[in-house]
Amino acid sequence: MPAPPASSSARSNAPQGALHPTTLTVQTAAPEPPPATMDQVVDRFLEREHGLIKFLANRTPVVETYLQNLTADPVLGPVPSADHYFLGRIDMGETVDRKDYLKDDDHSMQARLMGGFHKLFTLQYQPVGFAWMVYADRTDFDREHYDFHFVRREFLGDVRCFVFDVTPKKTAGKGRFLGRVWVEDHSYNIVRMNGTYSPAPKNSYFFHMDSWRLNLTPGYWIPSYIYSEEGDFSAGAKNRIAFKAQTRIWGYDLKKESKDDELTQIRVDSVKDESAAAQDASPLQAEREWQQEAEDNVIDRLTTGGLVAPEGDVDRVLQTVVNNLIVTNNIELSRPVRVRVLLTSPLETFSVGNTIVISRGLVDVLPDEASLAAVLSHELAHIVLGHNLGSKYAFNDRMLFSDDSTYANLGFKHIPQEEAAADIKAVELLTNSPYAAKLDNVGLFLRALQSRAKQLNALLTTHLGNPLGENGNITRLAALSSKGPALDNSKLDQISALPLGGRVKINPWNDRAEMIKTAPVAITSARDKMPFEVTPFYPRLTRWTDQSGQNPSATTAANSPTGN
Ligand SMILES: [Zn+2]
Repeated sequence: MPAPPASSSARSNAPQGALHPTTLTVQTAAPEPPPATMDQVVDRFLEREHGLIKFLANRTPVVETYLQNLTADPVLGPVPSADHYFLGRIDMGETVDRKDYLKDDDHSMQARLMGGFHKLFTLQYQPVGFAWMVYADRTDFDREHYDFHFVRREFLGDVRCFVFDVTPKKTAGKGRFLGRVWVEDHSYNIVRMNGTYSPAPKNSYFFHMDSWRLNLTPGYWIPSYIYSEEGDFSAGAKNRIAFKAQTRIWGYDLKKESKDDELTQIRVDSVKDESAAAQDASPLQAEREWQQEAEDNVIDRLTTGGLVAPEGDVDRVLQTVVNNLIVTNNIELSRPVRVRVLLTSPLETFSVGNTIVISRGLVDVLPDEASLAAVLSHELAHIVLGHNLGSKYAFNDRMLFSDDSTYANLGFKHIPQEEAAADIKAVELLTNSPYAAKLDNVGLFLRALQSRAKQLNALLTTHLGNPLGENGNITRLAALSSKGPALDNSKLDQISALPLGGRVKINPWNDRAEMIKTAPVAITSARDKMPFEVTPFYPRLTRWTDQSGQNPSATTAANSPTGN
């Protein structure tokens, strides 16, 4: 085996937490000559894979798996019959370790939901679950354990790849990767893996997976999405397991936690004196300053914990919708309303101070702007009505908890009376807004959600805000749920809700959110609608570019994948 690139061995000695994207510029001093044979390509990607495992060894990204069990519907095909949700941090340096955000407390809602999932993981999946599939083989990805067979060249997005079939040798032992890898042709990194693990140990079962990586930092392709699917719906099939699952990984650049890190998170400068006269605050001003400080604390904490995206373009799109409501209703507030994106899939909104937070999953499934305005209007109504929660978080000691316990330590659920009042106010705001003419679509969305509510309990289980419904009943904005035409699957132009993953894309390295631009694809049957459903990932692969304008030295590296 050739020596590993100088860069990776140098980095492995670096202190934890010292890594930053701008320091990842050290590459091999001289470009290696391009491989002359497919055997040399194999050597190169094996070496790069080991380099990646080393490079990510001190990272603890967030990993989210959302799984829908499937049952056959004669008209719609396989549809969700139940769902499961898992969220945690994975320690990339260890083979079997996950820290759960959703703590395994006996009496919590999460514990009951996790029950099904644990069973799935421990009885049917070895050893660690979906996140295990970030690498083909952590310990023995080499020629002693595997045979590699070149298949063809192929483009994935903008990236030209070599495709290899990978089969474990007979003597390689259980649970080895069996499938196909795509290797990009500049630096010979694996960019996609598709297959399973074989042979399975007795009484257990390995799922199939399609695992994608993105070129998010110079020289490395970072594991980002894993799609898993099992199930045979053909006539006569013995239908033991049937599900679809999306695993998303993000927050690679989050700091590894330590006590020191937590202490640096205390804010000492959040109250700025902006008044020229530098007077003491009046009681009302003081109250507002206090709420602003709590709001900033909470949003900062959720961002550093990898649960809220840094401020960005998606926020501005969402804020435009809120501004439409504010302007047409002549609302005057002491501070502007901001909107931020929670990075997770379950459908949820909440507000803290004048900041509205909406989950990625909810933005994904909303069919149109009017429906987006409707879910945001409920939170705007809380703000207008002064239902401010969370001012206790102005005390910084309340922010000193570990990332894993974020959900246990923060909560923004309103009492039922405030929920009812916010719904009434929200309908009033919508009726005065440009969205008034499109409330039929909102009704359609709410009924579509109702029609799946019993099967999608995990998707409807919120972790920070009030749920859209409980016990299989959608209660949010109930006054609008009777509006519009009847749900009709046979009407191909009636789009009541979208599949997950269609609107917002998260950069797994820096957590930035952006709107996805996809070309419209014609719906040709009721089975194409897939409301609220999980679908395979098909990211358009591109090579790393320096979009920020920073980090100019990165591209000078000899074997930089950008080639400039
Ligand atoms: Zn509410």
